[in-house]
Amino acid sequence: MGGFPWQGATLQALEQRADRQQQRARAIRRHSDQQLLTDVYLIGKTASLALEDVANLPAVERVVRVSEEYRVLGRHRDDKRSTWFEYNGVRFGQDNLNVFAGLCAVNTPEHVEAMMKALHEHGQVCTRMGAYKPRTSPYSFQGYGKACLPYVFELAGRYGIKVIAMEVTHETHVEEIHAALQQTGNPTGVMLQIGTRNTQNFELLKFVGRQREYPVLLKRGFGITLEESLNAAEYLASEGNRNVVFGLRGMKTNMGDPHRNFVDFAHVPVVKRLTRMPVCIDPSHSVGSRDQAPDGLLDVMHVTAQGVIAGANMILVDFHPEPSKALVDGPQALTLDELAYFLEDVRIAREAYEKRCQLAGQHQARSS
Ligand code: PEP
Ligand code: MN
Repeated sequence: MGGFPWQGATLQALEQRADRQQQRARAIRRHSDQQLLTDVYLIGKTASLALEDVANLPAVERVVRVSEEYRVLGRHRDDKRSTWFEYNGVRFGQDNLNVFAGLCAVNTPEHVEAMMKALHEHGQVCTRMGAYKPRTSPYSFQGYGKACLPYVFELAGRYGIKVIAMEVTHETHVEEIHAALQQTGNPTGVMLQIGTRNTQNFELLKFVGRQREYPVLLKRGFGITLEESLNAAEYLASEGNRNVVFGLRGMKTNMGDPHRNFVDFAHVPVVKRLTRMPVCIDPSHSVGSRDQAPDGLLDVMHVTAQGVIAGANMILVDFHPEPSKALVDGPQALTLDELAYFLEDVRIAREAYEKRCQLAGQHQARSS
């Protein structure tokens, strides 16, 4: 076709040439099992470039013209990239919902087992288990760390748990998790959680972004803008790991009192519109108590339903077999005999969400 001057050029040359012309092309290389795939992002004034010409370059799998923020994770014009990924047999997408009920912090093997068993009995394959706890006070319990990992992973495998959300606060934690999974024969999978105190810990983000074995749950920073938190997610993706779930967990402001944080689940559809990430809600850390409304529902259940009816894709929620013995966040934990009730309430809210989507579709069809 001859029109495209870089036909046959290497990707490196493409990048250099684009820079000279004050256009920008960024190539990201991804290894799959079989082959090297390369995505090219065209940024800036790139109207004169035909996407097909760049797509025809050797080794280029996909070309995306990027005009907005969040280059890799954002939704862009004519962007057909997926809004889901699969990990260890579990789908994480903007169109489905997974519940991660579990312990805020691991304490005894008996409590871990009771939790996993209850989840298994209720058809659940995901959980949350805190081994590394970032605490406000240096004198508070910091989590059992790597010592608890082998039995947590073995018990997860025994009860069919496929994904454990587990916070990491340092890169050595990722290595310890990896070693413990290997040592126990990979009985389960782990979603690395980056907590609200580390949303802008850029070196941690880069490290976790460079590994692609484990997906990442990035919590929104509790005192920064949404844009800053979404850029933090972009750090993970720009390093190569696009398997990122974005977590809403409430904002620190006394406007939210008496809740621990100001519940921000109205942003579920906003994050889904701006990015291709599945969105998680954490009702436990948002509300922070077992306070009950006059209608009989706990505030935790009310805000869970609010997030789910707005299209949330993942729920991270604290449960404990004996909340009075929990080492962290006992006052906000639900109990095991509330698990079936909680799941049913979630099912009702999800069904309502799906009906709302159908209604919106019918309305659009009528008015177009
Ligand atoms: C947690 O999920 O255990 C936690 C500490 O949450 P956050 O980072 O949102 O405070
Ligand atoms: Mn907690």
